[in-house]
Amino acid sequence: MHLATRVTRAGIPAPVEGEPFLPGPVFAAPYHASGDAKEAAYTYARTGNPTWTHYERALSELEGGPACVFASGMAAIAAVFGTVLRPGDKVVLPTDSYFGTRELADAFFKDRGVTVVKAATAGSAQAEHVEGARLIWLETPSNPNLEVCDIALITTRARAAGALVAVDSTTATILAQRPLELGADFSVSSDTKAMSGHSDLLLGHVAVREPAWHDRIRSWRTYVGAAPGPMEVWLAHRSLATVDLRLERQCDNALAIARFLQTRPELVGVRYPGLPDDPAHTVAARQMTRFGTLVGLTFADRAHADAFLTRATLITQATSFGGVHTTAERRMRWGTDFVPEGYVRLSVGIEHIDDLIADIAQALEATR
Ligand code: PLP
Repeated sequence: MHLATRVTRAGIPAPVEGEPFLPGPVFAAPYHASGDAKEAAYTYARTGNPTWTHYERALSELEGGPACVFASGMAAIAAVFGTVLRPGDKVVLPTDSYFGTRELADAFFKDRGVTVVKAATAGSAQAEHVEGARLIWLETPSNPNLEVCDIALITTRARAAGALVAVDSTTATILAQRPLELGADFSVSSDTKAMSGHSDLLLGHVAVREPAWHDRIRSWRTYVGAAPGPMEVWLAHRSLATVDLRLERQCDNALAIARFLQTRPELVGVRYPGLPDDPAHTVAARQMTRFGTLVGLTFADRAHADAFLTRATLITQATSFGGVHTTAERRMRWGTDFVPEGYVRLSVGIEHIDDLIADIAQALEATR
């Protein structure tokens, strides 16, 4: 069955006369539970919630391995780091990953005796560092650089070296890239982005190949209390039914915009893994069925980038990405990434492509 069909029903319970398709969010801290606590399906909401269970069933079906939902993407990332890494271990991160992932490793795991090694996503350079590593952390396409690494190649090398592999697949989503099938041990996502897609909640998840890791990841969530709110999980599950539809429009729009931008003299560079001449395209085409909602635009400098963002009317200036509204930001305003001052990360939404291109064209004129 196609994923487009599966997302409409994944995790939805069997029909019950008079009940809704997707039961509403369950708001609870303790549940009625008398007698032997081990007999009760739900006792306390930091450990489990029926709303989580429905969404996790959906994620497990789509990912191809048991999934655990978290309060945010960072909570999901921290769960993998926290359960896998011990003092003396080596973790290999991308130099160009989401900065929060690098910051978490550098600020909190390095001084607990974990060796943090970094290598570029481009050229699958992390494959050169698998020897002696406990965990190889991939992020592909990387945010914000939009570089791509070869998941199958790196997992094969890592397995031979006895290392585990986790893939942060947020920018692709499980609809476009299937980390567990490509050999990864952990598939991690910030569901804050395109998975939920409406810029109205924080959420994350971890899916695993080995069920034993699922138990540990769940325990981590319970003990650190990285429990998502039921409303957020319910909204994400409700939004899952349209994720294929949204991504189809967003990725088509992104490719059309990237092609258009390539013809424009106002830019010094355009990155989109779906462009046939993009340096990431060959590997991306091998392991992705869609190329994502993000396009990288490089202007000559900060002033030109700011002029573009100020003039555009259909591009909302905001951080984050993957939502139905087109948004963008000049990434160096954070000072956390290795991109030029004039680099703008554009997150393409579901608006009509003609309107987007017209708006982008007039905003580019402003940079002349
Ligand atoms: N992973 C990637 C690739 C991201 O871009 C982000 C956030 O931007 C995260 C993880 C963290 O997700 P969250 O903001 O949901 O904690």
